[in-house]
Amino acid sequence: VKSIAVLTSGGDSQGMNAAVRSVVRSALYHGLEVYGVQRGYQGLLNNDLRQMDLRSVGDIIQRGGTILQTARCKEFLTPEGQQRGADILRERGIDGLVVIGGDGSYQGANKLSKLGIKTMGLPGTIDNDIPFTDYTIGFDTAVSIVVDAINKLRDTMTSHERSSVVEVMGRHCGDIALYAGLASGAETILVPEVPFDLDLVARRMQENFQSGKRHSIILVAEGVGSGEDIAQGITQRNGIEPRVTVLGHIQRGGSPTHNDRILASQLGDFAVRKLMEGDSGKACGIVNGELTVTDIDKVVNTKKPFNMDMYNLASRLSL
Ligand code: ATP
Repeated sequence: VKSIAVLTSGGDSQGMNAAVRSVVRSALYHGLEVYGVQRGYQGLLNNDLRQMDLRSVGDIIQRGGTILQTARCKEFLTPEGQQRGADILRERGIDGLVVIGGDGSYQGANKLSKLGIKTMGLPGTIDNDIPFTDYTIGFDTAVSIVVDAINKLRDTMTSHERSSVVEVMGRHCGDIALYAGLASGAETILVPEVPFDLDLVARRMQENFQSGKRHSIILVAEGVGSGEDIAQGITQRNGIEPRVTVLGHIQRGGSPTHNDRILASQLGDFAVRKLMEGDSGKACGIVNGELTVTDIDKVVNTKKPFNMDMYNLASRLSL
């Protein structure tokens, strides 16, 4: 591998910039040429690539979003689009590609790998929904944003003796709700991985208020449904009217935490080194502190296991 490119694709996440910086600087350190592809696979098909130098990634480690921007690209879903993408890279003499994104972006990387471009995927999403990595880039920041929001809600809820339903992101994955719930002491955490009984939730809430609790937080992962529906269901059952907060895209913005910056820096450099070793069609991750590579085929066909121990701990501590 002499020349590589890097792109960010799908939903953005905090730490993508730190990952781009790491890929670019690591590639340059190892004497490779490196190109940044603007706007994901769409930019690739538009031939929107520019050569990067050390300064192209200056002053971005602390920034949310992605300087390379991101996009969703329909044309790249077709075999013709994928072939054209591979041809464009080859014409420019680029033989390796690092794709920073989620599931869909990984599948695109896998297709390019089968067309002879060496590819590496890095998990860039706040959702933490990618298996074979304990954490994705952006997850830690998203969780800290949720915890910070709940701290603020707690202040005002305690003054008014109120309850709150907080809806958080994560798509089909409950990890943001789980980690933020444990860290913020939420009374109830509703995630798509664990069935729940709203009757029980409503009854517990009522009992808690009767026994002197002055506030109650119900954290709802978006994969469960809307916070508004959960709040209405609770009111119908116990008459309590929780306030609903939907945190939305705020969870995807802001400066990445040190954990996300470090993870992104480690994974970006690791992906470059793996490409240089000739690896392709792999996703990079971190498992028990060790950097790992796994076949993308396996990653996209495996459901991320849910941390039931942590869920049970959160339940035990929320009495
Ligand atoms: P996130 O989950 O954070 O939104 P993602 O990577 O899963 O990120 P997608 O919109 O699913 O986001 O995928 C991003 C892009 O990857 C798509 O717009 C498309 O261009 C490409 N892509 C997705 N699925 C495939 C596939 N099966 N084959 C080839 N390319 C794909």
